Amino acid sequence: MQKRLVILGGGESGIGTALLGKAKGYDVFVSDKGKIKENYKQVLIHNEIEWEEGKHSETKILNADLVVKSPGIPNKVEMVSRLTAANIPVISEIEFASKFTKATLVGITGSNGKTTTATLTHYLLKQELNVGLAGNIGDSFAKQVFEQDYENYVLEISSFQLDDIVNFKPKIAVITNITPDHLDRYDYRFENYIASKFRIAMNQTSEDYLIYDADDEVIANHLKNYPVQSILLPFSLTKTIDNGAYYQNNQITITIDNNKIIMPTTNLTLEGKHNIKNAMAASTVAHLLKIRKQTIRESLENFQGVEHRLEYVLKINRVQYINDSKATNVNATYYALESMDSPTIWIVGGQDKGNNYTELYPFINEKVKAIICLGMDNTKLIEAFNGMVDIMVETQFMSEAVKIAYKIAEAGDNVLLSPACASFDLFENYEDRGRQFKEAVRNL
Ligand code: ADP
Repeated sequence: MQKRLVILGGGESGIGTALLGKAKGYDVFVSDKGKIKENYKQVLIHNEIEWEEGKHSETKILNADLVVKSPGIPNKVEMVSRLTAANIPVISEIEFASKFTKATLVGITGSNGKTTTATLTHYLLKQELNVGLAGNIGDSFAKQVFEQDYENYVLEISSFQLDDIVNFKPKIAVITNITPDHLDRYDYRFENYIASKFRIAMNQTSEDYLIYDADDEVIANHLKNYPVQSILLPFSLTKTIDNGAYYQNNQITITIDNNKIIMPTTNLTLEGKHNIKNAMAASTVAHLLKIRKQTIRESLENFQGVEHRLEYVLKINRVQYINDSKATNVNATYYALESMDSPTIWIVGGQDKGNNYTELYPFINEKVKAIICLGMDNTKLIEAFNGMVDIMVETQFMSEAVKIAYKIAEAGDNVLLSPACASFDLFENYEDRGRQFKEAVRNL
């Protein structure tokens, strides 16, 4: 008999799952408690897939054989508890899609740097391999498996996707770093979030690889207490690594089974220490998958970065304007400030996520000449940085923030938007915030 597949959440991953599920012979039903976007509705209608929005109808859901849940839906919602109580398996989209492909999978997770590392890895691999880029980026993994199915995939994977895997097993896993984030979904316990990230390696065997930041103590400690089966390939900015990658004297050295590759970092287009880490992770994947050394070197020099991540927008009167709108937590902003090599006017603020700003203090003293607070409520920022800089102003408008920065800036300075906060108080999302910044800069 036809198996019933119910999909909770009609977003990018849900629609991809519906298409793949239908093609694989399931009786598919999509249910979204909110609204489904018009273009996704059209896809469902066109493919004769049944759907509902604005509710979850029990009678159409509790008869499922299998449920795929959108990563956006917390496990605590009532419908999910009911499904679990009824012993109906609830899995994530990457778990579902990976059942139907024989491709080599590279899974990339971490608190920061996922998109940059995944995009760069894809860029390196696509020079010589047939490879798709999926996960939280662009078209969903399920949709790509349905449409063309590549021989390799680079997947950007959030902890929410990992929470609902069962057999998902990447040949190569990457953990870029782990700092507290999204704790509201993990009972406010950091260890739960760490464990969730490590699920990326839980099905790996001694023939698979785990690439990770050896300088990250959270990762190192977890590995000590909960060893994994995988072959470990750490990368480091601070120590030499025999099997893995390290950075010293402006070059990256990667060694895998005595096969060495050395690359200068002086011509990297990406700025900042964190991007050297991302480059080490991506190049280690490329080296494992036998991309030629020369190709890796050249591609690292040609890769132009990803929008809203330390993106160099324009230079006006010898002042560099930089868009780092994707910095929605303190750790991301830490690396942005660290990479500033001239006096900086810093635009910061938004929806606070329980931030602790003290780790930024050394950079404020050393590099920041003015702080422009851009949030609905800036009290916390003002308290945190009070007296540390000569100029501190507040505004609720991006155009004004940029104009103020323009007035303060002198030749040789940087103007950096790196908010360390979510964007939802004044903007639709971080992309909207970044675009408004760039537009305001262009209007100067
Ligand atoms: P993610 O997909 O994990 O959110 P992104 O690549 O989109 O990561 O980058 C998010 C923010 O973090 C950007 O501000 C970027 O400059 C910064 N960032 C990128 N890589 C790292 C890293 N390895 N460590 C810390 N911050 C990083």
